[in-house]
Amino acid sequence: MSTNVSRTMGQQAGRRSWAEPWKIKMVEPLRVVSRDQRTAALRGAGWNTFLLRSDDVYIDLLTDSGTNAMSDRQWAGLMLGDEAYAGGRNFYHLEETIQRRYGYRHVVPTHQGRGAEHLLSKSAIRPGQIVPGNMYFTTTRAHQELAGGTFTDVVIPEAHDAALHHPFKGNVDLAELAALIEREGAERIAYVSLAATVNMAGGQPVSMANVRALRELCRPHGIRIFLDATRLVENAFFIQEREEGYGDRSIADIVREFCGYTDGAWMSSKKDSLVNIGGWVAVDDEGLFEELRNLVVLYEGLHTYGGLAGRDMEAIAIGIEESLQDDYVRARIGQVRYLGALLTDWEIPIVQPVGGHAIFLDARAFYAHLPQDRFPAQTLAAELYLDSGIRAMERGIVSAGRDPVTGDHHRPNLELTRLTIPRRVYTQAHMDVVAESVKSVFDERTRAHGLRMVYEPRYLRFFQARFEPITG
Ligand SMILES: *Cc1c(COP(=O)(O)O)cnc(C)c1O
Repeated sequence: MSTNVSRTMGQQAGRRSWAEPWKIKMVEPLRVVSRDQRTAALRGAGWNTFLLRSDDVYIDLLTDSGTNAMSDRQWAGLMLGDEAYAGGRNFYHLEETIQRRYGYRHVVPTHQGRGAEHLLSKSAIRPGQIVPGNMYFTTTRAHQELAGGTFTDVVIPEAHDAALHHPFKGNVDLAELAALIEREGAERIAYVSLAATVNMAGGQPVSMANVRALRELCRPHGIRIFLDATRLVENAFFIQEREEGYGDRSIADIVREFCGYTDGAWMSSKKDSLVNIGGWVAVDDEGLFEELRNLVVLYEGLHTYGGLAGRDMEAIAIGIEESLQDDYVRARIGQVRYLGALLTDWEIPIVQPVGGHAIFLDARAFYAHLPQDRFPAQTLAAELYLDSGIRAMERGIVSAGRDPVTGDHHRPNLELTRLTIPRRVYTQAHMDVVAESVKSVFDERTRAHGLRMVYEPRYLRFFQARFEPITG
């Protein structure tokens, strides 16, 4: 069934829109780049949008990571930075905020999410152990493997089907996890790596019922649950909207309850927390905290700054509070859905239902004539840039990398091109321009022949791989 944007998006009588709960105080000019300049820039970047210079980009939807617009209060907070090497006051403000809002006892700051993943993987995985999780994430799995672990996907099968509607596509398949515990024994399981929302499935949420049942499943076996809380605020919105008993609960309340079913969490503050850099890992267990606090000194910095300036920690503490406001989250997801509704109306294949932070174009359906070895999602990102200067990102076979044992490509079911919406940055008119460009590339889809990879880096290849177009 096709929805109608004007109907869905609020022009009829009685409907109230999701307008942003802020106004604009400062603007940053955009650069419009000509078609010739875009062609040259894309060639220079080896058809990889990660290798473009941002000066050559018009609307930048590469990622929602660190691309947030900070508020006047956060900018004011930067001036309160205490840059003492040890014991700076901004750390204590951040620590208190995380304890109160996420509920964990011990906090270790890191320079960003992967810094936290590194410390936690090293501390909580013994070589040879298995780390089950609800779909892999690139940096998360890389650190789990570097620590000697093997990631095993236990997300529900619905998550792998782009077109299928399910309210909580990020849920853990509890029967599959139970079977894995039975088969391997609890001592072989390092911990459950739970992400909410699930980025690689399209920003899909986990239900409260699922995390509660997961806790019940893991408790008798003594298996710990660590949460990737990077987009938990957005996950909480879906619980509030879709799960019985949560309609009247605040986002902040839901976040706090969700964390209560887990033993600790790590965070890329560059997403939910409305800043440009930062992260943390927080746990309840005393012994694990001691290990994390030891390691942070080696890899990030002293345990009261973890690779961050004092002013950065102040901006994160303020950003956490702003991110938990119900009207903020509603407008954030409202904007993502606005773009999704435009594309759905034009029958362009996207991951359904629309998730928290991005629209994921289903490149497999979009370029039905291209085999996965021709990198359809990478091709689509390149074509979008050529069409309008919009920068998207591949989330398909290139991002999935290779199996460390066999050396073959991982071949994910989902072959997606992600249009990621930075928080508080672009307007509804920008979303219209993006939708129109996707439509024009869609109309020309049969003319695409795909790409071949001509340079492949060893780690996280999607960041730096280079390609050439296949002609005719
Ligand atoms: C971005 C991200 C990370 C890694 O965080 P960085 O700050 O980029 O290092 C981990 N998990 C998820 C779900 C993410 O989206």
